[in-house]
Amino acid sequence: MESVKRNILLNPGPSTTTDTVKYAQIVPDICPREKEFAGLMKGLREDLVKIVHGDLNKYTSVLFCGSGTINIDVCINSLLPADKKVLVVNNGAYSTRAVEICEGYGLPYINLQFPVDETPDLNKVEETLKNNPDIGLVHTTHNETGTGILNPIREIGALAHKYGAIFTVDTTSTYAMRPIDIEKDNIDFCMASAQKGLMAFTGLSFVVGNKEIIERSASFPKRSYYCNLYLQYEYFEKTGEMHFTPPVQTIYATIQALKEYWAEGEEAKWARHTRVFNAINAGLDELGFRQVIKPELRAGLVSSAIYPDDPNWDFEKVHDYCYERGFTIYPGKISTTGTFRLCALGAIDEADIKDFFKVFKEALVSNNIQVPVVYK
Ligand SMILES: *Cc1c(COP(=O)(O)O)cnc(C)c1O
Repeated sequence: MESVKRNILLNPGPSTTTDTVKYAQIVPDICPREKEFAGLMKGLREDLVKIVHGDLNKYTSVLFCGSGTINIDVCINSLLPADKKVLVVNNGAYSTRAVEICEGYGLPYINLQFPVDETPDLNKVEETLKNNPDIGLVHTTHNETGTGILNPIREIGALAHKYGAIFTVDTTSTYAMRPIDIEKDNIDFCMASAQKGLMAFTGLSFVVGNKEIIERSASFPKRSYYCNLYLQYEYFEKTGEMHFTPPVQTIYATIQALKEYWAEGEEAKWARHTRVFNAINAGLDELGFRQVIKPELRAGLVSSAIYPDDPNWDFEKVHDYCYERGFTIYPGKISTTGTFRLCALGAIDEADIKDFFKVFKEALVSNNIQVPVVYK
């Protein structure tokens, strides 16, 4: 097996993959309607539940062909009972995406907005639930990837349940990295896609959640033909297959990625991401960068650094310098402040971050940006 050029992706997904995962895509052509292929998906679906410690009698996973946003779409459009409202607990770009999905489907919703650098005020969440008994679904984001803030999902989930609502959480940027316990964390549905924590490729996304609620949702309005959770679940239960053509090669790669996930282990993998994250923060601190999110509120996977007040600062130029040398950095997602992000996803370790900061510092110096960086 020839090794493939290794790029260090510090963007928030897709992530750096191993060569064994890359090569797992190269398989003899197969029609995904063969029994052999359906058999592969059964184990895959069970593994996806086990990653969040779900009891297989109670929880299941449902696969979709698409990028991660398809999961948010599926959960919101499929899990809202008739005559009920969605409550989005929103402190960033990815929860705003859920609001846009509500708008797209013409669903009634409350957008309970909080500052991007603060966690949601739980008293306000409770007050909103109390004053709006027609809220049927509460949605939030675990790690707001736009900034890297960690939201208190267990507490929000407890409130959703206290007021009889279904709780869906966008865990796309924590799943298979930061440990999650679906039941203890009060999650009815969580989600991710193969190109993030699992370190495989884009094209396979999945919702992990409560079977009993999926079965109940059979009677909820069907607002989408392709993206309905119950219909896809029912097809899996009957046939073991996806209703429409699955992303065949991505599924082979994901199965290999899962083998590597279990071999590394939940605890060791989270420890590795933490090492990477700490190295990123140490590197940013040394260069004088300020960050958007206070250390105690960070989810431990995304650092959001604020652009320095230097006339020579030019994100594009710094990006291009690093990119040409195999390191990808990524702009931020906050409308009010110029930021860039460095993320601890993927098959990378501390040494890669040390290598990155050598190149990053060179990028600053060669663009005549003052080091340590300056702020007004
Ligand atoms: C990456 C990500 C998504 C999915 O984005 P796609 O571009 O559709 O794959 C959704 N939610 C969060 C929190 C994410 O980090």
